Amino acid sequence: MFSHHYEIACEEVSEFSRTRRKPLDSLRPTVASDYASLFWSEGFGLGGDLDQAILARSAELKAGLYRGRVFVIVPIYMTSICEEQCLYCNFRGGNKGIEVERRRLTDDELEQEAIYLIEQKGQRVLELVYASDPRMRVDAMCRHVERLRRVLERHGGGLVGISAESLEESDYRRLVDAGLCWSVLWQETYDKARYAMLHPGRTKKANFEYRLDTYERMLAAGIEHVGVGVLSGLSDWRRDWAMLMLHEEYLKQHYGDGATILGTPRLKLAPGAVVQETPYTPTRQEFLVTVALHNIFSPTTAAFASTREDWSACVELARGGGCLFTLNCATTPGGYSLQHGGCQFTARSYDAPIYSAKLKSEGLEPVFNWSAGDLSREYQPDLAVCGDGQKR
Ligand code: SF4
Repeated sequence: MFSHHYEIACEEVSEFSRTRRKPLDSLRPTVASDYASLFWSEGFGLGGDLDQAILARSAELKAGLYRGRVFVIVPIYMTSICEEQCLYCNFRGGNKGIEVERRRLTDDELEQEAIYLIEQKGQRVLELVYASDPRMRVDAMCRHVERLRRVLERHGGGLVGISAESLEESDYRRLVDAGLCWSVLWQETYDKARYAMLHPGRTKKANFEYRLDTYERMLAAGIEHVGVGVLSGLSDWRRDWAMLMLHEEYLKQHYGDGATILGTPRLKLAPGAVVQETPYTPTRQEFLVTVALHNIFSPTTAAFASTREDWSACVELARGGGCLFTLNCATTPGGYSLQHGGCQFTARSYDAPIYSAKLKSEGLEPVFNWSAGDLSREYQPDLAVCGDGQKR
């Protein structure tokens, strides 16, 4: 369990910040210690030669594997009723402030939203998103997955994933049996003290170790694609990303492919949050180069082009392809055909019919009806493209 390895990983990260950096071309894929020390390099995230080299290498590696194909995904929020107290979130229990409308979709409303997204927007890959709602536990989640699978099958196929609270391995097994393809969960931050401050109370989410070990429960249950990530800005982002890489390395060593999806949320204003800003949020440039460096660390991991970011940042995140790209985005239950208001955080919605054409004009190919196997690529370093565009 990574929770047993946590203290050692913390010490390793402290060492990274003092380690001499290696040249970019000498780094070995998936070896966290090769990459993480670069976060502390002079010039990292300042737009100079190092950044340019990282961004170019990331785009070339991704293009070699995915040829500009980006995998389109859309979230469907099921409930904004939450018993957790995350201080950075508009849905936190007890928040009665602006822009929070507490709603829980019925199964029929879910189907209505899904049909709208499929028929009007061309969506085929649907992500169910849940707050920690006591009335929407695994029974409801399984029912929703099955319902969406039936709707998709009537429309030519598609995939269903989930973003939900941390569950037991047996729960994840039930979801796989119901037809679940992937599951994502963000660790938020690896800084244990900061995590405790941001998640007060004795709730499930407040249990740091239980959350850390979630990915192993998902993988043990046979979920095909598992997503990891941190909410950049909650704590020292360099340490958080270094810990994330060590965690991914650990998962690969113990569970085959490990995590194959990377969440890239960066802290943004949430109207009713207690924490509105922190001194830890990476700049746009730091953020883009960090994701690009991760692409070199693990080229076959699909990073999200996040709707928390503006369009130009999303396009930069997607360079070369091989990412998950959210087109259309409502962060409230019923935010599409039902036109419910409110939000979890400030997000942008890029309407699929319009923004597909914009993606193409950027040399990217949006793929709507993709399969789980499209994300999985065998990475062969011998065939990788190096910084000057030549095969190595
Ligand atoms: S981040 Fe998730 S669990 Fe935390 S308050 Fe918001 S919806 Fe609830």
